[in-house]
Amino acid sequence: MNIILLGPPGAGKGTQAELLQNRLHVPKLSTGDMLRAAVKSGSDLGRKADVVMKAGQLVSDDIMISLIRERISLPDCGSGFILDGFPRTLGQAEALNTMLHEMHRKLDLVIEITVNDAALVERIAGRFACAKCGAGYHDTHKAPKVAGVCDVCGSHDFTRRKDDNRETVASRLQAYHLQTVPVLPYYKQQGILRSVDGMAEIKDVTAEMDRVLKNLSK
Ligand code: ADP
Ligand code: ADP
Ligand code: ZN
Repeated sequence: MNIILLGPPGAGKGTQAELLQNRLHVPKLSTGDMLRAAVKSGSDLGRKADVVMKAGQLVSDDIMISLIRERISLPDCGSGFILDGFPRTLGQAEALNTMLHEMHRKLDLVIEITVNDAALVERIAGRFACAKCGAGYHDTHKAPKVAGVCDVCGSHDFTRRKDDNRETVASRLQAYHLQTVPVLPYYKQQGILRSVDGMAEIKDVTAEMDRVLKNLSK
């Protein structure tokens, strides 16, 4: 099963991809996480990406396409993948179609998670993650069960993303509307686009995604 989760920054892609990978037994591939790992490593790519991400802009298609090409060729993607944060431009979407075609594979489903811009700003402002295992949280919508302790790994160490501030969020939203929204009709035309209401509670979004997946296998 090859799935894409699309939606603006803060829509809940990462949260839902995390839950979905445990149900479908295919890995989630987050290009944001891949880039943040590159930044941390101090590689050439990381240094380039850091500047662009801090400005809330998109890293170039060339870089992103080769990152994804390498990643989906690894053995753990043999039975599929969940893409979180890719594609973000029409060029990336077209390149993905070409590479999957070359691999004799295809996309099964693209799920758009819709959330209004005002809610996104609040979600991003309250977002944090476990520094050890990466589990995602929110100050009010998804606080750890025991304050200050990660539900998943028990760590006491949490981080907030550098680009999760109001100014950068505005550019990221603009990039979404200008560069990513045009990807939606591309998939609609292919008949594989479905939308879920991302304004609902986390568990209800999960349930709606499950309904979409069930309909697909009918
Ligand atoms: P994305 O990967 O699309 O940027 P995240 O999954 O990181 O989004 O979610 C952004 C923030 O909003 C996180 O702090 C997450 O815990 C929270 N969140 C995710 N889904 C919902 C939801 N349906 N309702 C309220 N908060 C949510
Ligand atoms: P979000 O919460 O905005 O969905 P991500 O973690 O997916 O955040 O992405 C963080 C940043 O990494 C983006 O603002 C962008 O600079 C860069 N990025 C991630 N994926 C892509 C991509 N497919 N194309 C270009 N830039 C990307
Ligand atoms: Zn943890």
